[in-house]
Amino acid sequence: MEERSEVLLKVEDKYYPPKHIVERAWVKDYESLYQESIKDREGFGAKVAEELHWFKKWDKVLDWQFPYAQWFVGAQTNITYNCLDRHVLNGRRNKVAYIWLDEDNNEQKITYGELLELVNRIANGLKSLGVKKGDRVSIYMPNSIPAIACMLACARIGAIHSVVFAGFSEGALRTRIEDAKAKVLITATYTKRRGKKIDLLATAQRAIDGLSFVEKVVVWDRDGDVLNGENPLLVSLDKLIKESSPVCEPEVMDAEDPLFILYTSGTTGKPKGVLHTTGGYMVETYYTTKVVFDAHEDDIYWCTADIGWITGHSYIVYGPLANGLTSLVVEGAPDYPNPGRWWSYVERYRVNIFYTAPTAIRMFMRFGEEWPAKYDLSSLRILGSVGEPINPEAWEWYYKHIGRERCVIVDTWWQTETGAHMITTIPSYPAKPGKAGKPFFTIEPAVVDSQGNPLPPNTVGNLVIKSPWPSMLRTCWGEPERYEKYWTTIPGQVYFTGDLATYDEEGYIMILGRADDVLNVAGHRIGTMEVESALVDHPAVAEAAVIGKPHEIKGESIKAFVILKKGVEPSDRLKEDIKQHVRQVLGAIAVPDEIEFVEKLPKTRSGKIMRRVLKAQELGLPVGDVSTLED
Ligand code: ATP
Ligand code: MG
Repeated sequence: MEERSEVLLKVEDKYYPPKHIVERAWVKDYESLYQESIKDREGFGAKVAEELHWFKKWDKVLDWQFPYAQWFVGAQTNITYNCLDRHVLNGRRNKVAYIWLDEDNNEQKITYGELLELVNRIANGLKSLGVKKGDRVSIYMPNSIPAIACMLACARIGAIHSVVFAGFSEGALRTRIEDAKAKVLITATYTKRRGKKIDLLATAQRAIDGLSFVEKVVVWDRDGDVLNGENPLLVSLDKLIKESSPVCEPEVMDAEDPLFILYTSGTTGKPKGVLHTTGGYMVETYYTTKVVFDAHEDDIYWCTADIGWITGHSYIVYGPLANGLTSLVVEGAPDYPNPGRWWSYVERYRVNIFYTAPTAIRMFMRFGEEWPAKYDLSSLRILGSVGEPINPEAWEWYYKHIGRERCVIVDTWWQTETGAHMITTIPSYPAKPGKAGKPFFTIEPAVVDSQGNPLPPNTVGNLVIKSPWPSMLRTCWGEPERYEKYWTTIPGQVYFTGDLATYDEEGYIMILGRADDVLNVAGHRIGTMEVESALVDHPAVAEAAVIGKPHEIKGESIKAFVILKKGVEPSDRLKEDIKQHVRQVLGAIAVPDEIEFVEKLPKTRSGKIMRRVLKAQELGLPVGDVSTLED
């Protein structure tokens, strides 16, 4: 099989950051700082770590016994001390940490001082239930302040939290609780989505049926009308809070003590329990939040993810809190009761930093620009994207209709496994739509063939990371062999990301999709992202997914599943027109043989297209694990 091929999608446009943004940016000269950072990765990491509080400093920055790394060896800290106490002691006691909103626009605010007390009370409450350092606690709760407080309460006492997205059903929840052997499950009576109540408690109870290691279920009884004291397994979160002391000394954690397990969304197979530890994760989430989002003291920050995903962990909870920011946390659907919901919050709270996913952008594109146009979005400064490659078309829409052509877009490439941003534009150098950008400080990526040989620019290959970094996963819970595979799949002791990428002469990296989604047409390796971007670029197309089908001559042929924009009539002529468009943008080699118009695409609950499901359906093969499928 021919392993190399040229990149078809030409990304030429460069968008320079506005002067007033560069002038106040934490990092003004990316190139020189990056060079400095890779010359002395450990020294650079140590310098950043000095900005945080340690009960005891490290003896050694890095201990690397391939493929196992320890960072800040011998150091002691507690991440909640850095996220809470440090601010309360330094003048931020009355600063708002979170503003929470639900679909009915009920609002709740909590200050750093109040959050510290709440976390301590829950921490003491968990202790009273017998939870100790190293025990696992599963959390199945809506995006909310109590959920965040429960995560932090675990970290306070050294318990390992395992958050399971509240949109998951019983089976997915059960697998994750079982795998982690959680001692306690924390849940809520319900969450609301599109005006509908979803009974989380009932699902939670079914999920743990027969799991004798689960000793207690702590329940946030949101309306105080469900718990009646009859079931000894169920403990009221409110009661725990009321009856526990607001003072709880933070557990002294070794830098390498586990902080949490998070199961990956499973776009590609059975979920893995990615394990993150305390010190390195704390340093990287702190520093990337500060530099990539260029976060400053008075910024209002909003990451639209759910705490059930890594983006929520790193960029709703730990990163923003470590920086002492004020964040929005929003429960419910983005477009309910109408597609103006999110933009009304940007206007009302004067949001400065906004972080979302391409799937959301494409959804809003479908609703039309008249929705954001109704609101004053002038407070925005930094716009972030994460989760999938952002098609240039969606990038430009985001830039124009949300950013009003005066914001910086940072396209952040990273993974559950990496813990924090790895490849991303930062606000001090120009962005290229469709390209994630350059490596973050100390990170050394490479594009290689399957033997680990470096490839020239503008060639599609495997994206690898050449050396360990502080916030990398330390293992897969209970499956060390799965962890080791990340480092042994490609020769040369490099971390294999599972993604395809290419870099240009200026060092910008473009992510082309997952290696297992790659199209191989007549010997050309084509990224799904390239073809999908060309499709979305057609004025009638809202969203698209492509798969490869076995083909006698070409090896594979391309089939495209296309969602049309609102009001567009499907027709055979339109199909031809779309094909013609792809031919113009990418060339004949990338033209889909088949186009099917669909209403929906199979997605993970975090909004990513599950191409393997489309492919299995198309070929009549078993679809495999679909516990993460949206519906
Ligand atoms: P699983 O590993 O279980 O299949 P997943 O990979 O979807 O699930 P995550 O860790 O949440 O779970 O997602 C990381 C992946 O998302 C990356 O490997 C990449 O494929 C994609 N991704 C994330 N951010 C970007 C981005 N900015 N540009 C392109 N792709 C991205
Ligand atoms: Mg993955």
